[in-house]
Amino acid sequence: MRYSGLQVLWEGLRGNRGWGPAWTKPEPKPAYDIVIIGGGGHGLSTAYYLAKNHGLKNIAVLEKGYLGGGNIGRNTTIVRANYFLPGNSEFYSHSLKLWEGLEAELNYNVMHSQRGLINLFHSDGQRDAFARRGNAMINQGDDAILLDREGVRAHLPYLDFENHRFPVYGGLLHPRGGTARHDAVAWGYARAASRLGVDLIENCEVTGITVNGGKLQGLTTTRGEIGAKKVAIVVAGRSGQVAAMAGLTLPIESHVLQAFVTEGLKPCIDHVVSFGMGHFYISQSDKGGLVFGGDIDFHASYAARGNLPMMEHVMEAGMALMPMIGRARVLRSWGGIMDMSPDGSPVIDRTPVDGLYINCGWNYGGFKAVPASGWCLAHLMATDESHEVARRFRLDRFATGHLLDEEGTGSQHNLH
Ligand SMILES: Cc1cc2nc3c(=O)[nH]c(=O)nc-3n(C[C@H](O)[C@H](O)[C@H](O)COP(=O)(O)OP(=O)(O)OC[C@H]3O[C@@H](n4cnc5c(N)ncnc54)[C@H](O)[C@@H]3O)c2cc1C
Repeated sequence: MRYSGLQVLWEGLRGNRGWGPAWTKPEPKPAYDIVIIGGGGHGLSTAYYLAKNHGLKNIAVLEKGYLGGGNIGRNTTIVRANYFLPGNSEFYSHSLKLWEGLEAELNYNVMHSQRGLINLFHSDGQRDAFARRGNAMINQGDDAILLDREGVRAHLPYLDFENHRFPVYGGLLHPRGGTARHDAVAWGYARAASRLGVDLIENCEVTGITVNGGKLQGLTTTRGEIGAKKVAIVVAGRSGQVAAMAGLTLPIESHVLQAFVTEGLKPCIDHVVSFGMGHFYISQSDKGGLVFGGDIDFHASYAARGNLPMMEHVMEAGMALMPMIGRARVLRSWGGIMDMSPDGSPVIDRTPVDGLYINCGWNYGGFKAVPASGWCLAHLMATDESHEVARRFRLDRFATGHLLDEEGTGSQHNLH
């Protein structure tokens, strides 16, 4: 069934009896041509583009829990294309263009809202860095406007502009940046992939990867052995553990990142605001909750839950930036496991095991990458050539020294 306003009206009139499940739940087959491990945003979009762009069939996504239960349903939903380095900027630029057509492409309302993102700066040196970044964004074909203090005040009058430690000097406005509803992105890709014949297998944990003579043979799962000609590991915070099943050691550390949401309030914050110096960023959801977060925990962990020291750090930063936030009551907090790479940039590549591919290293920023990441991994798996906007995301760059060390995306500064 195609989703549309008319359909909602029609179903409303007849007691909503016509809605079917959004995707099918098949039993796993003994073997597939292509298996994607991980039913997060990146795994689902990869499966969708394999079927849609390359016409491939006989594809499965294996998810150990339920679709959308990982970071894709835990992030703070920021979508942007404000990268500086060649290698990153063309990839995120491609992703933002895919976002702009995503709802029509998937026939699914992912609530993509280009409300504008403002990155604040607090010194002359930072202003220079943001001016350079803005120029790089414009050269890439994206949009950027450098705001002075009064320019920021016109958009965000509620900030503490005279804060002694972090006086606001100005900001870089990225008008096409914004947010989208995170779990709807997983559901939209899942529904569209299922319609193209992809088997989405939930409650199916991969527990072993069989490799023989350097060649992939198949997978052991909690729902039996599954053969596969090609497999991609797309498991975000679990990348190191799953890759180890094939004897691989990755340049990835897993860290917890927390987020917070307040009670619903009347509209008061109409942009995404990023306060990198304080490790704090915020936006307001369509339901009215203020959604905000900070930096990763400083120690490696697989615990997908929050803790008090980082909570205190985030609350302090929020109070320093916008004291009005002290009046809001926090409803919930949660955590997700980040796959942190040493240079803050991702990996979309083959592995040394023939037939085994890897997509990881998304740090804090993999939500915005979901469309382009799936697009590029599907291209790599279907053609065995890297897509032109993802050529630099090589697994061996940490050994060869070809790093993509983008300040503002890795562990140094939090821009989300
Ligand atoms: C609090 C928080 C805030 C964030 N904010 C932003 C933001 O504002 N903007 C942005 O761009 N990014 C943000 N991110 C990052 C972004 O969410 C992630 O980079 C991205 O979602 C990771 O890719 P994914 O969606 O495929 O991951 P996931 O949804 O985690 O998918 C991986 C899946 O693999 C499954 N899996 C793991 N092991 C196995 C196994 N052995 N067998 C089968 N399945 C397995 C997991 O269950 C999981 O469902 C944030 C993340 C968090 C936690």
